[in-house]
Amino acid sequence: MKRLIILGAPGSGKGSQCKWITKDYNVPHISTGDIFRKNISEGTELGKKAKEYMDQGKLVPDELVIDLLTSRLEENDCKENGFLLDGFPRTLEQAEALEKYLNLNGIKIDKVINLHVPDEEIMARAINRRTCENPDCKEIYNLRDNPPKQEGICDKCGSKLFKRDDDNEETVSNRLAVYHAQTEPLIEYYKEKGLLSTVIGQQELSDTIALVKAELEG
Ligand code: ADP
Ligand code: ZN
Repeated sequence: MKRLIILGAPGSGKGSQCKWITKDYNVPHISTGDIFRKNISEGTELGKKAKEYMDQGKLVPDELVIDLLTSRLEENDCKENGFLLDGFPRTLEQAEALEKYLNLNGIKIDKVINLHVPDEEIMARAINRRTCENPDCKEIYNLRDNPPKQEGICDKCGSKLFKRDDDNEETVSNRLAVYHAQTEPLIEYYKEKGLLSTVIGQQELSDTIALVKAELEG
């Protein structure tokens, strides 16, 4: 049982790390971005509200995120196996709300992985990113570094690849600015709690995986 948080700028490659961590440690992967996108595709009220912010690269307001996340942590899989939080917390207010929830439940975070990648690299990756539309697969490709064998088709499951609406230059630079202003302070917050491990994201996915693994085992 592990309770983990992964921090990193949008497009730093958190999603790829989450895929193996959730398998190897058998922890539910909780991505607030995925939860919002699911709500958007199902046309829920929450989805409609969230989409306005997401399309502009802005954060969804804390009050819409915090209840959503804490109620997700109440589900059995998290109680039994822990969790891997991806995209939450994203503001100090969210971190403090999480802290309150953990204290109330007498549980602690084991580790916070801070995945660091320079902004220029993030931009180059984002505009080339394609994602498998199959919700059970969600394989991520990059047209520059890791293209699919057949254009537009997932190697793993044969589903179509899509470009996320928010993977365009303007939205990415907004998201980076928001990250630096709102989320970066969490690095210091978790460093002070003695929970932070910083890993520099490498060009090769397998190299980054090895570095993150070393931090999680250590
Ligand atoms: P990325 O890591 O590429 O930014 P995410 O899937 O984590 O993608 O998030 C996409 C968008 O969803 C964010 O830009 C933001 O608008 C919204 N979002 C996700 N998580 C949060 C959160 N914890 N607080 C506020 N907004 C969020
Ligand atoms: Zn696929």
